[in-house]
Amino acid sequence: MYNLTDINTIKRVMSRHGVTFSKALGQNFIIDPEVCPEIVRQSGVTEEDGVLEIGPGVGVLTQEIAKKAKKVVALELDTRLIPVLADTLEDFSNVDVINADVMKTDLPGLFEENFKDCINIHVIANLPYYITSPIIMMLLESNLPIKAITVMVQKEAGERLCARVGSRDAGAVSVAVNYYSVAEELFFVPRESFMPSPNVDSEVIKLSVRETPAINPTDEKFFFSVVKAAFSQRRKTAANGLSSGLGMAKNKIFEALTNAGLDTNVRAEKLTTEELFALSEELYKMR
Ligand code: SAM
Repeated sequence: MYNLTDINTIKRVMSRHGVTFSKALGQNFIIDPEVCPEIVRQSGVTEEDGVLEIGPGVGVLTQEIAKKAKKVVALELDTRLIPVLADTLEDFSNVDVINADVMKTDLPGLFEENFKDCINIHVIANLPYYITSPIIMMLLESNLPIKAITVMVQKEAGERLCARVGSRDAGAVSVAVNYYSVAEELFFVPRESFMPSPNVDSEVIKLSVRETPAINPTDEKFFFSVVKAAFSQRRKTAANGLSSGLGMAKNKIFEALTNAGLDTNVRAEKLTTEELFALSEELYKMR
């Protein structure tokens, strides 16, 4: 089996296939031998589970997932890496590599075709950082039967995604993540753990998908437009952002805030999910 945390092995297998690293596709491969086993361990994946991996690269994380899971489907956008992966993953009969863009893939069809016999389905990845939040939001909003999403992300992105709603670091994306899942920051991964080494540090986060969302708004789309508007002007009060974002008069916004039992000067970052919910229900009645 290829030792894909060994720099010379990676270089050799890539050069054999005439492949170089693509910065544009966020290709920073894990070379710390402790990281991939730890991701798989903390993901909670079992021998009866299926795993969707996004962006296998040369297959370093894929190998570790394949040692544990029943079935792995790995989606890799870079066509040049497909023959590399055929080589590095040849010892694993439970892995399918598909040359595809995760954002353009029929995931319900893929799940149906590949994971029918699996107890739980996980997503595990060292995500391409240029597209972290869109991938995570697409997965959370997809309604797919995903048990948990365990992913490596840029440290600052992880902190924002996992921020407690109602705390300083929270943003609209933290509310959305909390709506669909219970988020935890698992462990820090320094930049030296990758080849080539990026100029940012990383962390692994785990989003355990809720069976039902944290709250039950009358109109989910409207709730998220309220959240987006409330957080749109970070240095100002929530009322400012809500008024311009929703196109509603300030006095109406003040009335809704008061009816929801909130201070009219409150900042969005102070609001909990339940408070945003109460506010959105009040605003919904006034539309
Ligand atoms: N899993 C490998 C590792 O940990 O060493 C590689 C991770 S690297 C950060 C991200 C990988 O995602 C790259 O192989 C890149 O080509 C791939 N990728 C980028 N955009 C993608 C997309 N939209 N869909 C699928 N794969 C993508």
